[in-house]
Amino acid sequence: MVAIVEIMLRNVLLLAASLLSLLCIGVIALGYFVTLDIDQNDVVLANGEEWIDDWYTVTAIDSTTFAIGEPRYWQRNYNYLLLGKERAILFDTGPGVRNIKPVVDKLTNLPVTVVSSHPHYDHIGNNYRFPQNAWLDVEPITREVEKNIFQPSYTRGFTIRNMPSFEITEWWRPDEQIDIGHRELTLYFVPGHEAASLAIHDPQRKYLFTGDFIYPGWLVGFAPTSDLSDYLDSVRFLIAQINGNETLYGAHSDTEHPSPALPSSALNDLEKALLSIKAGTLEPESKIPIKIYRVNEDMDIYLPPL
Ligand SMILES: [Zn+2]
Repeated sequence: MVAIVEIMLRNVLLLAASLLSLLCIGVIALGYFVTLDIDQNDVVLANGEEWIDDWYTVTAIDSTTFAIGEPRYWQRNYNYLLLGKERAILFDTGPGVRNIKPVVDKLTNLPVTVVSSHPHYDHIGNNYRFPQNAWLDVEPITREVEKNIFQPSYTRGFTIRNMPSFEITEWWRPDEQIDIGHRELTLYFVPGHEAASLAIHDPQRKYLFTGDFIYPGWLVGFAPTSDLSDYLDSVRFLIAQINGNETLYGAHSDTEHPSPALPSSALNDLEKALLSIKAGTLEPESKIPIKIYRVNEDMDIYLPPL
């Protein structure tokens, strides 16, 4: 009898938790449909960030590295254009609210290859506008590819409607080095926020482009393919790969931290927080509808209620 009551109670709790998670996903999906664009006059830009039109900003990190920002978008997305001597890489293309191609064309004449940090809707919105698309050759990607056409599934990344499909013209492997002409970049497979996530390391310039793995603001650990153990493994992997004096360039920022850049010590703070969360020694700042844990003064991580 007690066992039956316990099972019933557990089912009720599970149902409540599922409903709360659905509510969170619903709120985010709502943000996708409702225009939450911020008025241009209300946007606080980071140091060195300049408007290039009424939507996009450009920050010259150096003469061959640009952050293309969308600070009026409710998630403040940042996409990165990396120029070599022979070709350029565009890492992420944003939610596709506006066409990013004219901005890229203003910055380079080189052939551009697009690669996204992961297949969430706010990172692949303009991929279909470019003829050259690379993608990481890992199972969570390849299972959604048919005849080299990537079609994001309905269940990925909170979207209710599908994003435009695009053709993969180049497959890249985890740990591979890509030479774009006197500029060698290393690709890291970093599941955690999302199961197919990619980070790009420029060891010469000491940059690590991290997508949604780490950025200032609220990190998402409750997406459909988020995984806390993977997050911890990947953060340790990244710490082992870099020298410790890299700058991290994330795919988002927030109004309190308008720049998407972080010092590499942020990875150590994230590792510490994830370890404590797993050990049950870090108290969440809030538990409902999702758990929010403080990582450091720049970041929180949001996790499911259970
Ligand atoms: Zn994102």
